[in-house]
Amino acid sequence: MTYKRVLLKLSGEQLAGQFETGIDPDFAHWIAKEIKQVADTGTQVVIMVGGGNLVRGANVAGNGIRRVTADHMGMLATMINALALTDIMESEGVKTRCLSNIFAEQVAEPFVHRLANKHLEKGRVVVAAGGIGRPYMTTDTAAVALALELDCEAVLKATKVDGVYDKDPNKHDDAVKFDNLGFEQAVADADIKIMDKAAIGLAMEQGMKVVVFNPMEDGAIAKVVNGNDIGTTIS
Ligand code: UDP
Repeated sequence: MTYKRVLLKLSGEQLAGQFETGIDPDFAHWIAKEIKQVADTGTQVVIMVGGGNLVRGANVAGNGIRRVTADHMGMLATMINALALTDIMESEGVKTRCLSNIFAEQVAEPFVHRLANKHLEKGRVVVAAGGIGRPYMTTDTAAVALALELDCEAVLKATKVDGVYDKDPNKHDDAVKFDNLGFEQAVADADIKIMDKAAIGLAMEQGMKVVVFNPMEDGAIAKVVNGNDIGTTIS
């Protein structure tokens, strides 16, 4: 079974690659080639990019900066990442459009449902900028919401670990990886921090499958798209 349409969630931390902040061009080019593999074989790809490599709303709020403003700053950070990724994808020969959920018509097309569908049907990768366009949200929740809006078959959540563990594998040698995980456990277990609980809750309510995997392995995205058992499937 091959997915026809998927949403790939890339965090800002991932885009920073070997750096603490900013964008690692080596990682961005590498991931663009990985995405090309699946786009070239006909899978339609939507990408939700995070912004944590530049601004995370909850971290910058305070000292006179309101949370709403901080979240606006965070959304603009996702826009910076989305613009960079769009260009890098195009430089690797992937037809890509950046659609923004915040008003920014000089720099990106507005996110309009029908327009996004049209681009995807024409085989273009759609990079969403600005999350879902509202404060007090993260790009994880935005990713699930957008996957639902665009009838994606799964959310592919790229992480630095190769799946979901019962406890932090970097801290515990005896951590056990789940191949499959139920939504109920993913929501209820406080030790499972791979994705916001709000995002998992929405996925659970609407039955949107989430695959947590490490994209740094060659062909990992293609493997997930082709239904191979890698990472952890939350369903
Ligand atoms: N954000 C927001 N609404 C959204 C998506 C994101 O307000 O729909 C803001 C929020 O401040 C968040 C920041 O943008 O902290 C960057 O997104 P996120 O933290 O999800 O990035 P990631 O951790 O994936 O890099």
